[in-house]
Amino acid sequence: MIVILRMGAEEEHVQRIVSAIEEAGLGAHVSRGEERTVIGAIGTSPEMRPRLMEMFEGLPFVDRVVPVLKPYKLVSLEAEPEPSTVQVGGVSIGPGLFTVIAGPCAVESEEQLMAGARAVRDAGAHLLRGGAYKPRTSPYDFQGLGEEGLRLLAAAREEFGLPVVTEARSPEHVEGVARYADAIQIGARNMQNFDLLTEAGRTGMPVVLKRGFSCTVEEWLKAAEYVASVGNLDIILCERGVRTFEPAVRFTQDLAVIPLVRGLSHLPIICDPSHASGRRDLVSPVSRAALAVGADGLLVEVHPDPDRARCDPAQQLRPEQFAGLMDSLRGLAGAVGRSV
Ligand code: PEP
Ligand code: MN
Repeated sequence: MIVILRMGAEEEHVQRIVSAIEEAGLGAHVSRGEERTVIGAIGTSPEMRPRLMEMFEGLPFVDRVVPVLKPYKLVSLEAEPEPSTVQVGGVSIGPGLFTVIAGPCAVESEEQLMAGARAVRDAGAHLLRGGAYKPRTSPYDFQGLGEEGLRLLAAAREEFGLPVVTEARSPEHVEGVARYADAIQIGARNMQNFDLLTEAGRTGMPVVLKRGFSCTVEEWLKAAEYVASVGNLDIILCERGVRTFEPAVRFTQDLAVIPLVRGLSHLPIICDPSHASGRRDLVSPVSRAALAVGADGLLVEVHPDPDRARCDPAQQLRPEQFAGLMDSLRGLAGAVGRSV
């Protein structure tokens, strides 16, 4: 059960609820968000629920009390029945919109990043992506430019006006990423790195949480709950493909989870068709399918010269392909009640 306090509730109100929860023999979990504080009563039995609900609902500083049966609480639809909108550097991701995050897989050089950023800005992307810390399967592959990559991303934001989304690969990267970027990406291989989730959550910055490629929806939402549990509900879920028996694609975009998660969580959810397919010829059709099935946006890789890319060359779109994709999304969006 969660108790959602009204805006402006005082610390003394929080303590009153916590004491009442503890006196009932339950655990209390306080999550202090920027706007409101939410207190979870952990371990409520069905018998005690009506009495506790009545008690808390009668308090003037309580907005509402919600019984949540799911193991993930704050990110669940029970806690917040309306779909949420998350702001990244002034750009919204949420209902009625289709927000496109685009840019190279990795920041490789100033020239490459600026050319990529210019191309995606000219085609109408809303946010810029680019990895400074790359999670590579082999230790001998390009690992990213690190802090120099972050500086280049900030310079690209300055030049082209697109807020930046970039990955923190370990808890030590979070502080730097938070300093230079507008949203922190948690990669698929790190979805259950709980220290990283907590550290990213604590910054209060938007977090793009990729689904681990062999993780269930419930595990994914529990990972999101780690971020939420430290008071940060600015989370964007990103379906980036799951591993199946099929080697013809790099991963398999699990499009059904878009409407599925819609029925479980209020968080916005986007698709990454680039890592999901691994082939640039599939990226545009899968992107259109993501829009049609109800995704709130895309994370898509675009490189000024993909044949020379230092990672993921086969899946990065050429600038003109990305411009064509954006045109086709604009054509389709109206039919599904969204604007690109
Ligand atoms: C990425 O988007 O840069 C990335 C590495 O993706 P994933 O974590 O989904 O593999
Ligand atoms: Mn990539």
